[in-house]
Amino acid sequence: MNKSEVIHAWARILAGRAPSLSIEITKECPLRCAGCYAFDAAHLGGGTPLRELSDFKGDELVSRVLALIDERKPLHVSLVGGDPLVRHRELELLLPLIESRGVHTQVVTSAFRVIPKEWKKFKKLNVVVSVDGLQPEHDARRKPATYERVLQNIKDARVTIHCTITSQIADVPGYLDEFLRFWTSQREVAKVWFSIFTPQRGAANLEILTVAQRARIIEDLQQLRLRYPALDMPEALLREMAVPPRSPDQCIFARTTETISADLRTAITPCQFGGDPDCSRCGCIASMALAAVGHHRVLGKLTAGHIFMASDRVGKGWRSAVNALSSQPRSSTIPSPLKVLQPKFQTKVQ
Ligand code: SF4
Ligand code: SF4
Repeated sequence: MNKSEVIHAWARILAGRAPSLSIEITKECPLRCAGCYAFDAAHLGGGTPLRELSDFKGDELVSRVLALIDERKPLHVSLVGGDPLVRHRELELLLPLIESRGVHTQVVTSAFRVIPKEWKKFKKLNVVVSVDGLQPEHDARRKPATYERVLQNIKDARVTIHCTITSQIADVPGYLDEFLRFWTSQREVAKVWFSIFTPQRGAANLEILTVAQRARIIEDLQQLRLRYPALDMPEALLREMAVPPRSPDQCIFARTTETISADLRTAITPCQFGGDPDCSRCGCIASMALAAVGHHRVLGKLTAGHIFMASDRVGKGWRSAVNALSSQPRSSTIPSPLKVLQPKFQTKVQ
């Protein structure tokens, strides 16, 4: 993010709106990965599961997604699913239209289908391909999006590889090193990210890392980032993985990202995992990246996180007041918080 984008993000927060929007553009996925949170019964709060939600296709999906973006005005949109490449025709229409609005887009996919090399022309697009470990483990979990197929489907494209570390791979010596050696030698791969598997509270998935495994993995990543520049995980981010946010309330990522499911109405809370995620065992790279920003000292003991929490409270208070007043006559005269702050705000940023 550059300086003007940070200021825009802050403006969105002060206005009581999330600067980041994540949309499950389809409920469909050809894969059945073990431990997938999108199809977990808890994902939508224990009510209707994702596969039973109504979703959209064709022009209707395109126009509804654009309407949502135009209404929420985020700075960053993640298009997820299911697998968003199930709606590849709609994506072809959406990507240039989102880019033309100056919005950053992230498409998160298993690459079960070709990622067009033409997408490299989008300067604000990041295509994230999920790879679950080395070939034997990955192929067993992610058929039909096997290594062979992923390599074919990313040919000549530009992608970020994202791997979620599970307990099954955490104890294998040299595993992450071998993974990085393989993927960073593919010319299509611009960056590699790792997350650590995040369970629901009280869950007993095989994928959950023990405390000792987690500590060892973080230590390994601290070493590996020095050897693989494409491993895009700064030291400050890895420090946050050792002490994740205590609750969704303490999680800047959850508080700055609005997540909407495939019917384009249902909100997923408190974060993209839905349900009741175990923050104490969270390993989500996005959450840790924003936590690292939050711990950045701005002045003395004052951190960016202190400023964010205060701004978020002001913004949410402001939005509730606007919502309450908008049912009253003459609501159109309510100014935005930034208009109120503008003279002071401009002096500060010039
Ligand atoms: S590809 Fe993603 S959405 Fe589909 S089953 Fe696997 S983890 Fe879930
Ligand atoms: S992203 Fe992680 S820390 Fe943030 S609310 Fe979700 S589980 Fe908790």
